[in-house]
This record gives sequence, structure tokens and C-alpha cells, in this order.
Amino acid sequence: MTMKVFRGITCPVCGMACDDIEVWYDEEKQEIIVKNVCREGAPKFKELVSPHRIREPMIKKNGKFVKVSWEEAIEKAAEILANAKRPLLFMGAETSAEAHIVGLHMAEYLGGVVDSNSTI
Ligand code: SF4
Repeated sequence: MTMKVFRGITCPVCGMACDDIEVWYDEEKQEIIVKNVCREGAPKFKELVSPHRIREPMIKKNGKFVKVSWEEAIEKAAEILANAKRPLLFMGAETSAEAHIVGLHMAEYLGGVVDSNSTI
């Protein structure tokens, strides 16, 4: 059994920011086991390996989504953001503070607007 263990992870789900989360990843079973997480937070970590999750980047070409490399997807995303007159960076809940920092820097650089689902 090959396990990767990540300790001291902060849960981004409800805002309580529990910061002693352990995530165990069983590479053979492609299964995630979590410790020190409540019932609300656990499914969010486990969905990382869900078969329903889109694992490869896709771009719409000629009306259909096609799989592309990460480099092409990132290039396309940068092109869309750079060409937008006033981009909206919608940074939802359940996102880490570190990701929010990056998003805020991007919005400032692009002259964009930041919003989240807390405004709904
Ligand atoms: S573990 Fe539960 S209580 Fe703690 S931050 Fe995550 S969702 Fe909130």
C-alpha cells in the first residue's frame, strides 16, 4: 500500500479554519482518508478523487469541448483575462486564503472586479 500523508492542512470549507487536518491518499485505491475533519469538511477533501471530477483541462473548439494540455489551457485562460475589459474574478467560498491572495493580486493587476458567492 502506498500512502501519501499531508498534515497540518487548513480546511477551507465553513470558515472555522480548522488547521490540524490530516489527508491520507492511497495511491493504489485512489482513495482519500481524512482525519480531524467534521462531516461537512470531509466530503470536500474526498471529492478530489471523485470519478465525476473533471481531471484534465478542456477548451471549447468549434462548439465542442476537447481535452488540451495544461499549458494550452493556462495560455487560453490568460488570453481571456488579458483581453477582458473588466474581468470578474469570482472567488468562491471553500477556497484557501493563499488562493484568495493570488486572485486578489490578479484582479488588481488586470483592473478587474472580485466577488464571491457570499453576495448571493
Ligand atoms: S473541519 Fe468542519 S468545522 Fe472545521 S473548517 Fe472544515 S467544515 Fe468547518
